Amino acid sequence: MIRQFELVERVKNYDPSVDEDALNRAYVFSMQAHGSQTRASGDPYFSHPLEVAGILTRYRLDGASIVTALLHDTLEDTKVTFDELSHSFGEEVAQLVDGVTKLSQLELQSDQAKQAENFRKLVLAMSRDIRVLLVKLADRLHNMRTLSFIGSVDKRRRIARETMDIYAPLAERIGMNDIKDELQDLSFQELNPEARDSVIKRLGFLREKGGESLIGRILDELKATLAEGGVKADLSGREKTPYSIWRKMQHRQVGFEALSDIMAFRAVVGTVADSYQALGVVHSRYPLVPGRFKDYISTPKPNGYRSLHTGVVGPEGQRIEIQILTREMHDVAERGVAAHWQYKDGSPHPTDGRQYRWLQELLDILESAAGPEEFLEHTKLEMFHDQVFCFSPKGDVYALPQGATPIDFAYAVHSEIGDHCVGAKVNGRMVPLRVALQNGDQVEILTSSKQTPSPEWEQMVVTGKARSRIRRFVHREQQEQYVSLGRDIVAKAAQKEKRELTEAGLQKVLKALHCDRVEDLYAHVGEGLITAREVIEQVYPETKRRLPSLGLGRRRPRGKAGEHAVPIRGLIPGMALHLAKCCYPLPGDRIVGIVSTGKGVTIHTIDCDTLANFSDSPERWLDVAWDVVDGQDSKLVSRLLAVLINEPGSLGDLASVIAKHDGNISNLKFTNRTVDFFDMMVDVEVRDAKHLSTIVAALRAAPAVVSVSRVRQ
Ligand code: MN
Repeated sequence: MIRQFELVERVKNYDPSVDEDALNRAYVFSMQAHGSQTRASGDPYFSHPLEVAGILTRYRLDGASIVTALLHDTLEDTKVTFDELSHSFGEEVAQLVDGVTKLSQLELQSDQAKQAENFRKLVLAMSRDIRVLLVKLADRLHNMRTLSFIGSVDKRRRIARETMDIYAPLAERIGMNDIKDELQDLSFQELNPEARDSVIKRLGFLREKGGESLIGRILDELKATLAEGGVKADLSGREKTPYSIWRKMQHRQVGFEALSDIMAFRAVVGTVADSYQALGVVHSRYPLVPGRFKDYISTPKPNGYRSLHTGVVGPEGQRIEIQILTREMHDVAERGVAAHWQYKDGSPHPTDGRQYRWLQELLDILESAAGPEEFLEHTKLEMFHDQVFCFSPKGDVYALPQGATPIDFAYAVHSEIGDHCVGAKVNGRMVPLRVALQNGDQVEILTSSKQTPSPEWEQMVVTGKARSRIRRFVHREQQEQYVSLGRDIVAKAAQKEKRELTEAGLQKVLKALHCDRVEDLYAHVGEGLITAREVIEQVYPETKRRLPSLGLGRRRPRGKAGEHAVPIRGLIPGMALHLAKCCYPLPGDRIVGIVSTGKGVTIHTIDCDTLANFSDSPERWLDVAWDVVDGQDSKLVSRLLAVLINEPGSLGDLASVIAKHDGNISNLKFTNRTVDFFDMMVDVEVRDAKHLSTIVAALRAAPAVVSVSRVRQ
């Protein structure tokens, strides 16, 4: 255990102005508060907060953080109250301890919902003060180091998984790379011990093969090479962790064999200019390994990391990896956000988490996610990925997860740009919105005020921000459609039954139908969860047992859309209304709706054979009719079967006839081909049934066309 004066000395070493008295009091306060409590290891409980404080001194954190580390478990595990802490150590420390406490409760929860809720709290707490996260990470690190003392395998694995999924990525985000490495490796040990053992065995073999002093010899030669080139540098070499080696193996689908796979050499130089000079010296002396050079000085990682990385075939013919960076960059690489905190002038350093863009993004996601679980899903997704860097036309750089598409990029630039994105140019060329962006791509987003997020987008994005925005929009849109469809269905049914349905009348039956508001009731009807008949029977119980019901009657052709038909508005199939893929109904066709639970209504043409499948469930039938045809710009797809003469130019004839009559071919497929004829399936975008019959007539008139018919199954 670190002794009291030792801890104080450590902090005083880097921050001479620290409040020694507060450190001493926190030490004693925590020791007394935890009293005779013990850890799973059998150690006195107080050893834990003390170790956590010790870890944080390595990163030279300020006095308040160290005091918080000492006190971090007192609120939760002892009788100490917030007011007591505030009284003895001040509001700042009390708030920090409170922030950390809220999070530690999460470790006790196994279920996803609680975990998600606590992650939400963590994000809020660290956005108020990033030091909460630093203390929390040190806390988790010590708990991971002592994980083996926990008896339950399930609990150990749960903690390890959570560390891997949430805490390690967070450590990376704030540049605490050592903590990240150690958290990952400790989790790896718990989650996949066999894999880790095999990596370690292989490491031992490689070390032996190179000879004990190989690394020392390489360091000496690199030093001499740089000195000859006129660069003064501090050189060191470090072995990568088994987990990072394992990840690389999974990534590249190969085993590891060279020294570069296990060691990274680091040259710390004086200035940025020296870095590039050192790079030049290295590259002119040793052959470059292609694809390994990365300039994180001109394009820093989002967590602030800057350095030059390169791979060369170095001394003794070994492939080696070299990182070249200045003293200041080295400090950032070692201490992450804490590197920016200076103690010289005693001025307070910024601890507001909102200055970090990634944290601001998490907060944005938090605001738009439907619930904590969705939030956790979105953010986990994001934190897991490697990154690509893309540029806006103005040259602003955006870091996105691997696999990100132009839609992700659009949302990264601004939510509004994402919502209205209609297309994208990558490096000056139009690309489909679903393509994955590559490192260095310049992306220009084209927008239209008419565009809104489409449900398909959700499958195309990888960032949490884009996903949650799209999902929220689609959900709201869908709800609105269900409400309006449901309102129409209920109104028509009531009209048919000659009953009046008032808002007040509906209010009374809400409870019986398990709805909170009249709007929900309409939405449920629109979604097909309850029927209009159930609603009317609730309001007018005397209508029960009366058959046939409500115009949702048996299938029967009718001369003209009935007066009780629900109008289908516009031409664009919405999310509550689906046009059947068997008969491709068009405006002008006589149609009928089939209510599908949880999906809304599917529209079929009245003579579609599929309808036979529903003849036993009259309650699902719905009278519908096309509403006023509005707008010329909306198109529907209709499917035709055509038989053409097999001769040059006949396909061209077909296409030009369709184009001449203002139709657009959206899909084309040969279904059968003989010496004389070929059969094909043509999908044409048309305005309505009349438009289609014009096209069909014109095709029949074309010499190359033997026959044409509309597809109805
Ligand atoms: Mn703790």
